[in-house]
Amino acid sequence: MAAELRRGCVYLVGAGPGDPGLLTARALELIAGADTILYDRLIPAEALDGARADAELLYVGKEGGGEAVPQERTEELLVERARAGASVVRLKGGDPFVFGRGGEEALTLRAAGIPFEVVPGVTAGVGASAYAGIPVTHRGLAGAVALVTGHSRSSAGASTDDPESAIDWPALAAFPGTLVLYMGVRRLPEIAAALIAAGRPGDEPAAVVEGGTLATQRSVLATLGTLAETVAREAIRAPAVTVIGPVAALGAELAWLPPRPLAGRSVAVTRARAQSSSLARGLRALGAQVREAPVITVRQIAGEPLDPAPYDLVCLASANAVEALFARLHAGGRDARSLAGARIAAIGPGTARALAEHGIVADVLPERFVAESLVQALAGIPVERALVARALDARDVLPDALRARGADVDVLALYETLAEPLSASALDAARSADYITFTSSSTVRFFLDAAGGEAGLSDSTRIVSIGPVTSETLREHGLEPHVEAERHDIDGMLAALLADAAPPRR
Ligand code: SAH
Repeated sequence: MAAELRRGCVYLVGAGPGDPGLLTARALELIAGADTILYDRLIPAEALDGARADAELLYVGKEGGGEAVPQERTEELLVERARAGASVVRLKGGDPFVFGRGGEEALTLRAAGIPFEVVPGVTAGVGASAYAGIPVTHRGLAGAVALVTGHSRSSAGASTDDPESAIDWPALAAFPGTLVLYMGVRRLPEIAAALIAAGRPGDEPAAVVEGGTLATQRSVLATLGTLAETVAREAIRAPAVTVIGPVAALGAELAWLPPRPLAGRSVAVTRARAQSSSLARGLRALGAQVREAPVITVRQIAGEPLDPAPYDLVCLASANAVEALFARLHAGGRDARSLAGARIAAIGPGTARALAEHGIVADVLPERFVAESLVQALAGIPVERALVARALDARDVLPDALRARGADVDVLALYETLAEPLSASALDAARSADYITFTSSSTVRFFLDAAGGEAGLSDSTRIVSIGPVTSETLREHGLEPHVEAERHDIDGMLAALLADAAPPRR
């Protein structure tokens, strides 16, 4: 899906309010192709996962109103990088032209003669409201909606020289529709009082949505009169949007987000980025905050084209082995049909799924997804010549057992797993997560390599292992798993994590 980006062009891209699923297709393809990405704090944590490994990633965010990187410097960087011929993505939370200073940046680019493109995003006021079950317009309730910054000092009457902040509260109080306030949750007491003083009814419904569309989303419903007190009691924090108007009450009826059992829990994922997606996706769907800490990359080993004709059994030890096996078949002009003469054994459901994508239904799938169990599953099946397709550093349980039965066994190492270094921040995030997941022995070893030999996990971090082999490797390194999956696959990991995170039954 990689798009051709224009060199020397700046793309002002909205990343949506937080749920990575709300990144647009255009945003994703631009992120995947950009030479340089300048990004803000409020972009989805996963938004940069698809960036090129060699892309320059520059954080230019603001912290709590203050600026880590001044706006002028950000604009200078945009101009500098574009002039140097880079394709530049300027990635912002929500929509770039809604309280995103995207307009200012576009003016600077125009003045500098630099071409730019604008990619709208789902803006927080609309997106967070929708995730809280609040339609910002509704027939009969609201025929207009105003997007308002609450970051104003003028609510107390003081003047400000920033016109975006110079809000006329009496005029807004008279606005015939929904008010959606961005920023300024801390100022809600003043804002609510100013609106009421200017004639907005105190019993008008109001809602605040914190961390809208994120795994940690919370919302409170109140009235304009009780809003300040409710927000203080619930300790609502930024980022949050406030919705004032009759539509806010619909949130009570239309809240639709299912309760998410891992909401508020952080889970570190150590497996290879390409492989982590099913685990990461599953975790996010359960509400967890995923901390990607990929310590492995998978590299296929080049080799001769494969002719599987001599084998009556082909065993596949992982989904990676399936991909690499097909690469070797294709290299010799063959396809799935060349496997017609052999029984196909998969070690587990992920491997079986990868086979299914190539049109092959595995003949043998063990009950437990380890080599020992596959040996048992194969017990009644006659084997003369077997091919075991697997990683370079895998265990010899299966080939040894087949040889012990008198079979001729070829072991084909199709790929190797290599250590990938972690950035200091990714390592810190993984070490302090509520859970850290290990899906293979190599994730354990490579995590320790990446951590400089000392796991350094925080005392409260719970270690989750996919199964007994991985648990053994953990113990060899002085780490005792707190949770071991009963089913040794991704669904099994998720089930084990859920069981562990569930509040104790009374
Ligand atoms: N350009 C952004 C807004 C940036 S201003 C957009 O279009 O959404 C930052 C403000 O956006 C925050 O103070 C908060 O009011 C709001 N915001 C951003 N992300 C949010 C989220 N996930 N949930 C609730 N409000 C959010």
